[in-house]
Amino acid sequence: MSGQIESMAPLRALPPMITFAEGGPCEKGETAAKTGCTPAGGDGGKDAGEGFEDRVGDQAESYKDIAPYADPGDWAGYMEKFGYTAEEAEDLRQQIIHEEKEESRAQASRKWEEARDLAFRGEDMAGDSLAKINPGEASVSVAKGLERVGGILGGLERDFPQVRAVVQAGLIGGVVWSDRKGSGHSATYNPVTKQIEIGAEEIITPATVAHEIGHAVESVAPDGWGLGESWRDDGPSASMYAAQGDPGEKFAEGFVRILEGDGFDDYAPAQARQIRKVLESI
Ligand SMILES: [Zn+2]
Repeated sequence: MSGQIESMAPLRALPPMITFAEGGPCEKGETAAKTGCTPAGGDGGKDAGEGFEDRVGDQAESYKDIAPYADPGDWAGYMEKFGYTAEEAEDLRQQIIHEEKEESRAQASRKWEEARDLAFRGEDMAGDSLAKINPGEASVSVAKGLERVGGILGGLERDFPQVRAVVQAGLIGGVVWSDRKGSGHSATYNPVTKQIEIGAEEIITPATVAHEIGHAVESVAPDGWGLGESWRDDGPSASMYAAQGDPGEKFAEGFVRILEGDGFDDYAPAQARQIRKVLESI
């Protein structure tokens, strides 16, 4: 434990998104690896299953499993007893390999869709999602040069009672500049000093500030909250970034979603309950 809660990563740190074309033919510039499209010449109609199952019987599935890894000579030997010539056996093997690839591509596509569903309606990090905030005067100290960020915090305080409660509870000690070179994060909440530390001031959005306030709330959550059933990696998470597994990030993003009023209570009720419980205890 570093004692410092890692903060919002810029979106460019996310892995590239792969959108699957669901087996449609590859368009110009697309490749199967990039988009999951079907390469030209990829065969749509033939199925190695036709005839193969009848000939090979109960063991058809087992043979299909080993086909991609079998030595072609060995494979021809196995198939000979089912009446395949060596050439037919190799064609069959290639066909099975092709189908396996199609299947794993389809499976990857399904997994992606699943992860997208887990990531709060397929939305990305809340970075740009919070409604535009009109600047206001922050009630905490704001370091020189960070007036714009201070204005965002003041605007959040004015618009959201939850933010006012967090500030009034003394959980936001101020907004300070911090050299964040190499940290990969544009802002951090430091639970020791209770300050929001800002690096790349110019890219801070209202949602970034709200996210850091979410970490301030998280800092007073009871021990072990993050270990609860509902915060597992395969539970609904707050963003694609948080979907990668950090419960602290899920908490902070969940807080932003609650502020945003995007229906978080409906689609992630267990997480919403946990965050609201902590908010009520402040
Ligand atoms: Zn964070």
